[in-house]
Amino acid sequence: MSFENFELNPALLRAVADAGYTVPTPIQARAIPIVLAGQDLQGAAQTGTGKTAAFALPILHRLDAAQSAPRGPRAPRALVLVPTRELAAQVAESFKDLGRHLKQRGALIYGGVSPKPQVKALAEGVDIIVATPGRLLDHLQMKLVDLSRIEVLVLDEADRMLDMGFIRPIRRLIAALPRQRQNLLFSATFSTEIRELARGI
Ligand code: AMP
Repeated sequence: MSFENFELNPALLRAVADAGYTVPTPIQARAIPIVLAGQDLQGAAQTGTGKTAAFALPILHRLDAAQSAPRGPRAPRALVLVPTRELAAQVAESFKDLGRHLKQRGALIYGGVSPKPQVKALAEGVDIIVATPGRLLDHLQMKLVDLSRIEVLVLDEADRMLDMGFIRPIRRLIAALPRQRQNLLFSATFSTEIRELARGI
């Protein structure tokens, strides 16, 4: 099994080679074809399994295939929610690395820092948002972000987000998304609460 087995944009295969990945990890082998096909997915995966690339690669592929090299102010099309700012930074870095030969732009949104650069990035136009739920909800409530064009939602480390009390902001963010979208949920554990959230979306 190699990355060439997936029908990924050659620009992504180049980025995969640049990153030094040769063999897909098990979660990548299972998830990438499903996400490329536009289907919903629930993945049981912990950090360290390669799960970030398992969703970042097919998301970048689909965004680029549907609309290449967008410019100027535009509504974001992919939203990744994560529990912590550290994970947000890591996930955003993966999108940046894997998307290095594409033109999709990303914004990194989390609390505890000045909202100004985030507001500026959102106003300039981004395709992919990687965010912690609380700060993104603040931007939404101030009408600084338009989530009505999101095509793909990722809930990463969903169990940790629930443990951290993010269920209400998550539900309010989801309510602002179009009903027609792709949903990807990753969690290390599948408690009743997680299953309920998954059923709800
Ligand atoms: P993650 O589980 O997404 O946090 O990824 C864990 C680490 O594995 C990161 O440093 C990735 O860059 C790396 N990684 C992801 N996919 C592969 C792969 N197919 N081959 C080698 N390393 C990988």
